[in-house]
Amino acid sequence: MKRSKTNSNLESLKSEDFTEVRYKELLISAATKYRFNGSEIDSSQPSVCWRHDVDYSPHRALAFARIENELKLRCVYHLLVSSRYYNLLEPEIADICREIAILGHEIGLHFDIDVLQKHSMGRKEFLARIRFEKEIVSGVLGVQPVSLSFHNHSLHAKQILQMPVVEGMRNLACSEFFDEMKYVSDSNGIWRHDHLEEVLNSPAFPKLHVLTHPVWWTQEVLSPYARFLRAVNGRAEANQYLYLRMMIRDGRLSEIGRLLGITEADIQRAAADHGSD
Ligand SMILES: [Zn+2]
Repeated sequence: MKRSKTNSNLESLKSEDFTEVRYKELLISAATKYRFNGSEIDSSQPSVCWRHDVDYSPHRALAFARIENELKLRCVYHLLVSSRYYNLLEPEIADICREIAILGHEIGLHFDIDVLQKHSMGRKEFLARIRFEKEIVSGVLGVQPVSLSFHNHSLHAKQILQMPVVEGMRNLACSEFFDEMKYVSDSNGIWRHDHLEEVLNSPAFPKLHVLTHPVWWTQEVLSPYARFLRAVNGRAEANQYLYLRMMIRDGRLSEIGRLLGITEADIQRAAADHGSD
């Protein structure tokens, strides 16, 4: 099924739709109609591929993964190895992603075609790069990625690979998988096309593909851009505090802290910070 026309109804842009509480309600509603089993679709009953592209915030992804695990639902997490916003090789991020896998969710690769364009790669290099990123995910997490999707799918529509399986991963972007399903996405933190609640309130579709991005869902009500800034600034602050804590641990702060322009207020804030999500 193709995506429907843009919904011009401003009601669909309400920020309060994107809270964790609301998210859990939507999941509970979906679970009454659909079978959840990662990207494995059971044609004998209404099934949903409930997928998250982790573009910006693994911390928010883990919050989702825990909620879904409480409800015993197996969802799909696609990790963006080439992300500018998090580093899968960073120990804390690797732990978070490992925990998502341990919670029983399907892990997949979210591939950014921008990488190819920057380096003018051909098809052979395209596949080699996908294989390389897949191996990073499996090496870090200790699980094999099951499925594949592409970052900024519509921007790169012409380059999306159409094979149903790519480097051993189910290709969720190929027409064979994508076009025959009802598709709903929270891209940009809004319901721009279909509204998920309305889709879930409709009679069950045989096959449903729900794409959400964890960064767009927070505990408090925020505008989409504020949700993005929350993730980006949270990461920046965590890095700042990490730097200061390393200085304290190594005994350098008392020796040269003042020379470096570090103030007492910086130190107090670092000491008070217990990490962010
Ligand atoms: Zn993406």
